Amino acid sequence: MQQHEGIIVQLLAGFYDVLDSNTKDIVRTRARGNFRNKKTSPLVGDIVEFQINDDKTGYITKIKSRKNQLVRPPLSNIDQAVVVTAATQPSFSSNLLDRQLVALAEKQIDAVIYFSKTDLLSNSQFEKLNKIAKYYASIGYRVFFPNQTNKSDILNKIKSLFKGKLTIFMGQTGAGKSTLLNSIDSRLNIETGEVSKALNRGKHTTRKVSLIRINQGFVADTPGFSTYAVFEMPEQQLKNYFKDFMLYSPKCRFRECLHLNEPNCAVKEAVKNQLILQSRYENYKQFIELIRKQKPEYERKGYQKKNGRRFK
Ligand code: ZN
Repeated sequence: MQQHEGIIVQLLAGFYDVLDSNTKDIVRTRARGNFRNKKTSPLVGDIVEFQINDDKTGYITKIKSRKNQLVRPPLSNIDQAVVVTAATQPSFSSNLLDRQLVALAEKQIDAVIYFSKTDLLSNSQFEKLNKIAKYYASIGYRVFFPNQTNKSDILNKIKSLFKGKLTIFMGQTGAGKSTLLNSIDSRLNIETGEVSKALNRGKHTTRKVSLIRINQGFVADTPGFSTYAVFEMPEQQLKNYFKDFMLYSPKCRFRECLHLNEPNCAVKEAVKNQLILQSRYENYKQFIELIRKQKPEYERKGYQKKNGRRFK
């Protein structure tokens, strides 16, 4: 029987819809029982091998190794996330933004930062936040900070980022994700709008997860993952997810400098000289505290200790 290859674009009621990479047909498949034995089940985003039966239904025979995966929403092989960040209402939170950036970096997902509701800012607020946005751009993020004249231009730029990639959207409730998605593609807004309403009512609804093809890429029609339990990592790892720290840390006296109490720390020096945003450093210290509090939990999960160093 002929082997086909494709990407799972939808999971619905136990069926996996696979987009055949050769024929571009969508084939409704089931997973073979052997995945259950291996305690793995296919995810939307998976690249799979599958076979097609005479009745045009198919079954998945192999899941290719994943670049990354999320539990909520259940997705794999995510390339990038557009982090919708409220400029106001709710007011801008650098803490939430940095949290999301750490969570994404940990999963090796590129972050694109989009500031929403910038039109509701006063002139002085606009200038102040624009500076912060420029800072994030200066350390290597794609940042979009709309003003009155460049909105449609920005939408086109975001769409152009989809090409050849799997993109998710994330952001806190009220950040204006739906408005953004609706202006990108109305198919996205329908799905996420329904989900967020269900979430507000506190309902645990089983919902479908699917990928929508836009500009030769895939966009997940489901809100991004929750970032409140993202600090399950050794504390030494966190600093690697702060791009700006990485610019200065080679000059720290100690190679494994945590940039906390060590002498001759180039990161702390850069914070002092306002080369690194103070808020970034404060958030980093807070996240370290969170990791230290959470530690017993991930140690129970059997996290490998590195270099024989003890985590206290
Ligand atoms: Zn340091």
